Amino acid sequence: MRAGFPDFRLGSVLATSFTGTLSERHGDAVERIPTPQRLVDWLAVNGLAVDSCATAQLELARELRESIHAAATAAAVQDPLPASAVQVINDCSAEGRAAAILTPEGNRQWQLSSASCVEDALSVIAADAISVIAGERDGKLALCASPTCQAAFFDTSQSRTRKWCDMNTCGNRQKKARFNAKPRKNPGSAE
Ligand SMILES: [Zn+2]
Repeated sequence: MRAGFPDFRLGSVLATSFTGTLSERHGDAVERIPTPQRLVDWLAVNGLAVDSCATAQLELARELRESIHAAATAAAVQDPLPASAVQVINDCSAEGRAAAILTPEGNRQWQLSSASCVEDALSVIAADAISVIAGERDGKLALCASPTCQAAFFDTSQSRTRKWCDMNTCGNRQKKARFNAKPRKNPGSAE
């Protein structure tokens, strides 16, 4: 953990964990990858370790992130996918040379063509976004119910009724807001 930077939100879906590096898009936006090194940190946490990242690569990463967000949002509300976002996702997917590797323990790992290749890591994220948006995976794209967030997330709950992108932040805040808005039955009683 580097002091001074907002924490990462870690989800189980790579593409929407990545779009979650910018949160509160409809409020006071929180940028969780404000520097190239922070993107390096995020990639390492997500099994896509790279040695370094240039400013232009961070900009490309953010462009991919917002394109995934735009396409996933459109998919969640069944709007046509924005062509420019699709183009960016496809370009990033085609640009990289990452190989899926099966470990002896039976886990999948990603092997990048070189340790300095942020583009390879981005191609893995782009491909993950494609599989989610294309509806290949078991789950449903939805938008966070928090008005200041509205993040696209991938709902893999059995009932497909998840309301928030993240239970610990958006979910909790909404619950608290609702609790505080409720009239108390015994205003004088100790709590
Ligand atoms: Zn949210």
